Amino acid sequence: MAEQECGFAPLVFRLHGGAPQVVREVLLERGWEEYDEEEQEEGDWNLYWRTSSFRKSDYEKILPWQRLNHHPKMSQITRKDCLARHMRRMKIAFGIALYDFSPGAYILPNEYRKFLGVYTKNRTTDRGKSRYWICKPVDLSRGRGIFLFEDIKDLVYDSSVIVQRYISNPLLISGYKFDLRIYVCVKSFSPLVIYMHQEGLVRFATEKYTLASLDSLYSHLTNTSINKFGMRYDTDKERVGRGCKWTMSRFRSFLHKQDVNQLLLWHRISNIVTLTLLTAVPCVPSSPNCLELLGFDILIDANYKPWLLEVNYSPALSLDCPADVTVKKGLINDIIDLMNYRMIDNFRQKGYLRKRSSSRYLRPKISQGFLLPKTRHAPSGSKSRNHSISSSSSSQDTNCPFHPNSKSTGHEKAPQTFEEITNEVESDDLKLTPFNSTRHSHRNTPSTVFKLPSLLVPKLKSSAVLWNSTTQDRGVPPCRVGDFILTFPFNEATWKASQDQADVKAIVNEVHELTNRLATSFNEKEKTKMESSQSAGVGDKFEPLLWGPKDPPLLSECCSLNSKVK
Ligand code: ADP
Repeated sequence: MAEQECGFAPLVFRLHGGAPQVVREVLLERGWEEYDEEEQEEGDWNLYWRTSSFRKSDYEKILPWQRLNHHPKMSQITRKDCLARHMRRMKIAFGIALYDFSPGAYILPNEYRKFLGVYTKNRTTDRGKSRYWICKPVDLSRGRGIFLFEDIKDLVYDSSVIVQRYISNPLLISGYKFDLRIYVCVKSFSPLVIYMHQEGLVRFATEKYTLASLDSLYSHLTNTSINKFGMRYDTDKERVGRGCKWTMSRFRSFLHKQDVNQLLLWHRISNIVTLTLLTAVPCVPSSPNCLELLGFDILIDANYKPWLLEVNYSPALSLDCPADVTVKKGLINDIIDLMNYRMIDNFRQKGYLRKRSSSRYLRPKISQGFLLPKTRHAPSGSKSRNHSISSSSSSQDTNCPFHPNSKSTGHEKAPQTFEEITNEVESDDLKLTPFNSTRHSHRNTPSTVFKLPSLLVPKLKSSAVLWNSTTQDRGVPPCRVGDFILTFPFNEATWKASQDQADVKAIVNEVHELTNRLATSFNEKEKTKMESSQSAGVGDKFEPLLWGPKDPPLLSECCSLNSKVK
């Protein structure tokens, strides 16, 4: 294998029972080996993937070259009741208008009286608001235990539930309701770094939408786990086709044919993701060796307004249909690229060499951070150059077991320091080569595009990494990795505000300002005003891309657009 030919130990993944088969498949295709508990030692794996959460001790025992696929405390946004509580808190702190993407929700039985008050007011006075409610068990998924009601006498529950305002005017395609499954990768909570995947899934109900029968789950719920048992699942449904899923690309081209200007829609969805994750920032302890893949469920209503329905922990990665295969295999490949494992594997090998000679694991002196390659001396536009990579560790978190101030783990007297290893890694392992991406060739790419070294298999999809040319030397994450687009931070101010103790208020203000600026730019009347304020720039040369379109434009380019969202 190429990796061994180069003298590297093969990368090793560890899957907990129930972990998705597609993760195994992709990693084996990339030349990784599967961890064997009987044969190998605890420190022998590089990536541990679990569908359920890790124990506290898993975070404490982690070694420099190891990664876990979950951050701690994610239930803060993935449990329906916690999310409802956070959304309410943010509405109070920052105004209902900014957080109005989340349908009002009440946690029962505790908030029954509060709900009763709203329900009664709604029946008598609240014109224009939905008269319908949806009841969901707080800790179940896949549509289990969900029902709709209009009359409170039909509200019956025997466990903790949330009752949420039902979005009763969804956008329909040929009469079918659908929602979007958006894949989001949180690379770090401190600083907050969010990537959104351009591919995703559109999940359809399999019976036509009607408010005349609230009992028909096949017409009101879009969960695949429910609709694959629907009578019309295999029928060739008008426009929707067979089954109940589309890829996001197919949805984009549908919108395009409908003459819908999508840019503002995608931007609104990206805002929902940022504003939702911000609620979790103060609760999630910094864990530099962790990464989280989340599934955001977004419903678009008939006015093209996106709504957040929920955030899924360990979103389903089963391959049930061709759309799943296209989307999920690419997604996993891009996640692995985002982790930039080459460097970490070298840590492991060197740690082991050291361990074998001194019977100790290697412990770096500083927090390792979640490392991504950083080019040095790479002026944009250069045609052929080798770039060495250095660590971009910025986290100084004391919870990290490798931080100098963290509690003793018994390994602190490591004979070799992190810095020494990094220097060695820089000198020999990681060379970046310029990459001519056709994806970006249609416009003047503002940044240099690089390709990470292929790990093992030459036939792999190339892992394009697009850097902000002006920010790469400051440890700012690349704005694109494969189909992952960096959506946060999106400018200098948000980058600074998310360091150390995140300044949530400052970040919320920036999000608000950008949205106003974009919304204004979509209004033709305001075009002139926009152009005159261009000097303020969206990103102070930060050069963020707009998430959503297949070939995303720069956010700053969108600010000068003057077409209307339909
Ligand atoms: P689960 O975790 O069980 O999938 P969700 O909150 O995602 O629970 O709800 C399941 C489905 O119900 C969604 O995919 C969507 O189709 C529908 N749904 C949920 N909440 C609402 C809502 N407030 N308005 C309209 N439809 C909703």
